[in-house]
Amino acid sequence: MISIARQTIPSDKVGYYAKRVINDLGIKEPPVLYIPILEYFGIGLQNYSEKMELEFTKQTGYRIDTPAFLLSSCNSPKIYIRESETQERRRLSIFHECGHYDLPWHEGHNFFCDCSEVNPKEHKKKEREAFEYAARLMFPDHLFFDDLFSLPVSIQSIELLAKRYNASFIATAINFVKLNPSACAFLMLKYNPLASESGSCYQTDYSVKSKSFHRYWNKGEGIGYNDHIQGCFEYGRYWETEIPAMVFGSNRKVDYKAFLRRYGNSVFALLTLPSIQSRFI
Ligand SMILES: [Zn+2]
Repeated sequence: MISIARQTIPSDKVGYYAKRVINDLGIKEPPVLYIPILEYFGIGLQNYSEKMELEFTKQTGYRIDTPAFLLSSCNSPKIYIRESETQERRRLSIFHECGHYDLPWHEGHNFFCDCSEVNPKEHKKKEREAFEYAARLMFPDHLFFDDLFSLPVSIQSIELLAKRYNASFIATAINFVKLNPSACAFLMLKYNPLASESGSCYQTDYSVKSKSFHRYWNKGEGIGYNDHIQGCFEYGRYWETEIPAMVFGSNRKVDYKAFLRRYGNSVFALLTLPSIQSRFI
C-alpha cells in the first residue's frame, strides 16, 4: 500500500497534498475559505484569548507564546488560534496547521508554530514544509499563475492580489515574486541605526527572488544610502523610481526599477529590470 502511494506521489510532495485538497473541494475562485478545509479534515478550531494564555501559564508554568498550534495526537484534532491575530494571519496560520495535519510524515506530532511569513528559512524542515503547504492552499496554482501572467510587476499588483486572495501583503508579495516568470526581487529593508559604523543605512531583513532574477540577498546584508529609500522611510510615501544596482551591493552598471513602500519600521522594495536592460543581466 505504501509503495503504491510512493510511486504516484511526485517529487513536489507538499504541492501534491495541497493540490489534492483544492481539487477535492473543487475550488475555482479565490479566496480559499478555511471552514470547508477544516470540515474536510475533521479538524476543530478553538480561539484562545490573552486571559486564557495567562491562565495556562499560571497553571502549568509554561508560556504558550505562539499565535497558533495544532494538537493532533488525540482522537479529535484541533487547531488553537490566538484571537487577537489579524484575519489574514489567522488564515495563514490555519492553513499552516492543516499542512502539519495533512502531510503524512508530520503525523502524530503536536506543533507549536510562530507562523511568521518571513522567517521560514530559520525554521526546521517541517516548518518550511507547512509554510509551503499554506501558500499552496492560499494561492492555488491553477488560479494564481493566471493572475501572475495577466498583471505587471508592481506593488499595486501585489495589493490587488492580496485583496483577491484575502492574504497579507507580505505573504502575497513572497508568492508573487517567487513564482513570477519575470525577473524580480522583493526585499524588506530595516533601518540600520549603526549606519555610521557599518556604512550601510539599511539591512536586508528578508528577501526573495524570481527564478530569472540574477541576485539574492542574505539576511543582514547592508544596503547603501539612497534618497528615494530614505524619503520613503521618512515620509511614508509610495515611490516608483530607478535606483542604481550598486546601492544594493551589485557591481553591475544597471538601474533597477524600484517600487518602494514604507511598512512599519521597514521599507519594502520590489525590484525589477527595465526590459531593455534585462538581456544584459
Ligand atoms: Zn508549524
